[in-house]
Amino acid sequence: MYNSRKKPMEEIPEEMTAVWSCSNENCNCWMRDNFALDTQPDCPQCQSAMVKGEKKLAVVANTSFNHNKSV
Ligand SMILES: [Zn+2]
Repeated sequence: MYNSRKKPMEEIPEEMTAVWSCSNENCNCWMRDNFALDTQPDCPQCQSAMVKGEKKLAVVANTSFNHNKSV
């Protein structure tokens, strides 16, 4: 096993995230399940039905709440 890749300074953790992918194979559109407002969203680009799946995505740190440090 070769392990010659340089280690990046800061590793972004990734995890399997629930996403919706467009069922149209000519369309690469997808969205995170968190951002989908409908239970069965349509593709915003081609209006095709979207299929639920998983993608390995960088974890989005929800830091916006911690910025208000007014104690
Ligand atoms: Zn689409």
